[in-house]
Amino acid sequence: MIDVNTIAERDRSTVLHPFTQLKDFATGKIGDPTIVAGGKGIRIEDAQGRSYIDGFAGLYCVNIGYGRTEVAEAIARQAYKLAYYHTYAAHTTEELATLSDRLVRMAPGKASKVFYGLSGSDANETQAKLVWYYNNLRGQPKKKKIISRERGYHGCSVISGSMTGMSFYHDYMGLPFPGILHTGTPHHYWGAEPGETQESFSRRRAAELEELIVREGPETIGAFIAEPVLGTGGITPPPAGYWSEIQTVLRRYDVLLIADEVICGFGRTGADFGSTLYGMEPDLVTVAKGLTSGYFPLSGAIVGERVYAVMEEAADRVGAFSHGYTYSGHPIAAAAANAVLDIVEKERLIGRARTVGSYFHLRLRERFAQLEIVGEVRGVGLLGAIEFVADRQTKRRFDPELKVGARISKAARDRGLIIRAMPHGDILGFAPPLVVTETEIDEIVDMAYRATKQVM
Ligand code: PLP
Repeated sequence: MIDVNTIAERDRSTVLHPFTQLKDFATGKIGDPTIVAGGKGIRIEDAQGRSYIDGFAGLYCVNIGYGRTEVAEAIARQAYKLAYYHTYAAHTTEELATLSDRLVRMAPGKASKVFYGLSGSDANETQAKLVWYYNNLRGQPKKKKIISRERGYHGCSVISGSMTGMSFYHDYMGLPFPGILHTGTPHHYWGAEPGETQESFSRRRAAELEELIVREGPETIGAFIAEPVLGTGGITPPPAGYWSEIQTVLRRYDVLLIADEVICGFGRTGADFGSTLYGMEPDLVTVAKGLTSGYFPLSGAIVGERVYAVMEEAADRVGAFSHGYTYSGHPIAAAAANAVLDIVEKERLIGRARTVGSYFHLRLRERFAQLEIVGEVRGVGLLGAIEFVADRQTKRRFDPELKVGARISKAARDRGLIIRAMPHGDILGFAPPLVVTETEIDEIVDMAYRATKQVM
């Protein structure tokens, strides 16, 4: 076995890490990489034997917790039986057919088919192509623009990265791609006028969306993509009435709705899907993360009846559906997903996320809502956020140089708790595995509170 210093050195000299300040890492300013060596339940362990509660489920994905042997065994069984075959030209496996049947039955909207990829980013890239394909096939080739929201997060590839509504994901990368537009974020705390109710704020955001559609020309707008609960942009549940107002506008202009359920799907919000919770009826649904709880890479672009009917109808005219990856519908990924969804069902993790989630929000508000530096405590299910401000009366933000969120997150980590300083603003994000208990919630909230007091 190689020693930790050699691992750190090899890593530092050869790995290009995502979302890492390259110079600070290269020069050792941000320390050595954390060598993650194992995981069990809601905890991970590093190579030096330090244990951390993972209050963020990896990247909001390890819903069933770490170290589930049922999933490891399902993966191994499939690898022994058939490690790989493709799904081009109508090849399949038992695991994949079983998974697809399951997903089509459980997905929100009128689901018809599932196209498989490996990441949320590539699934959203597929969604964009499906929107373009659909509109080309039905004789509306101009109807291609896609609207997403400021602070939405949809991935990092060319189109999904353009859909992502935070400029630091675009800067120096040549994004956004033309034809991807952004509309206002539905965050009442920051966006509402004084005295404006959630409902009228929602109406205003819907009116802004309508203005954008009309300004661009409805014949040019193909789809609207959104997370039911805004995730990486700040863990922000929608204001009351938002989804009903937005869907009325989309229907008026024949604009498809893509629900990006990459975080919300499979129980994170305490419902099976965020769309179910908020009464959304999407035409296309993106799933990833919780689908395999991170045990194997897998994503899905779930295609609703309305879009699929046009695709099948045009097939005699246009030939084969020419889109797919070597690893679309990978049999090991499908086996992992089936084993994960079995656990989600058997352990009723969606209901758990709802009840333990209520306790979590109660505890979070109890501890944080009264603090002078806390502007808002928010969330739903097992998604939570605390937003820090320098002055809660005027909502003045802290000087970004103070890096308040990052420092609290670091202090929590030093105490053995992983919570995420969200990339936008001074926001601490929580998304523990859905198997978390109330006692563990107490631990998480108390550790986060002590870390906050230590820094501020
Ligand atoms: N969509 C949402 C809502 C996400 O949160 C993410 C990742 O965090 C993605 C898409 C992109 O997924 P991936 O990182 O697997 O490409």
